[in-house]
Amino acid sequence: MTDTVAAILLSALAMTAIVGVRYLISSGGFAFATRIRHPGLYRGLELQMKREIGWSLASAAIYGVPAGIVAWGWQAHGWTRIYTDVDAFPLWYLPVSLFLYLLIHDTWFYWTHRWMHQPRWFRIAHAVHHQSRPPTAWAAMSFHPVEAITGAVVIPALVFLIPVHVAVLGLVLTVMTVMGVGNHMGWEMFPRALVHGPAGRWLITATHHEAHHAAYRGNYGLYFRFWDKACGTDIGLGSFAAAADRRERAADG
Ligand SMILES: [Zn+2]
Ligand SMILES: [Zn+2]
Repeated sequence: MTDTVAAILLSALAMTAIVGVRYLISSGGFAFATRIRHPGLYRGLELQMKREIGWSLASAAIYGVPAGIVAWGWQAHGWTRIYTDVDAFPLWYLPVSLFLYLLIHDTWFYWTHRWMHQPRWFRIAHAVHHQSRPPTAWAAMSFHPVEAITGAVVIPALVFLIPVHVAVLGLVLTVMTVMGVGNHMGWEMFPRALVHGPAGRWLITATHHEAHHAAYRGNYGLYFRFWDKACGTDIGLGSFAAAADRRERAADG
């Protein structure tokens, strides 16, 4: 019994470390890219970035616990529908499962995010995330613990319901990390043709999420604009004018 508890604790601890290090590497990498591409963009935001890092590392622990329990159950008891034999399902299922995971995560995120924009819940759970004005690459996991819990349970729950190859699961987590950081870093990394072209009408990138942070409403989605469009909450693409202003001021000063 105590061995089991120790094994679960160890697994949760290991997952917390993995999520924390993943955050530091990805946000640190994008913050470094920001310094090169847009020097001065984060000038004056040092205190805010410290706060973002603190909340994000706390979130890493919250993400690590359910992930650690599930990882332990998968290894020790064969829980979950994660599979390692690529032939266990037809090959076409690989992209389909990737899309399913992203779509369901997006749906969950849209509705919980909208719910957290109700004034009462906003104050409790979501004000922390919006304290970043404007967000930086370090804000990717800057969530109040209540919000972090809503985010932390999604993938650990889905692996019990929808079969997924372990590599596809890795891809899901990579997309989640890259978009989480990219959407908050204050500039657009994707080409204009994508963001303002046909694909951009359905995909969410930094330009779309920037408008959410500027307006405090609308554009609640995570990866796709489907729910925002279907529910009339899509407020269109934002602009990085405020960031450009700050950069000019920084250059002048
Ligand atoms: Zn929000
Ligand atoms: Zn955000």
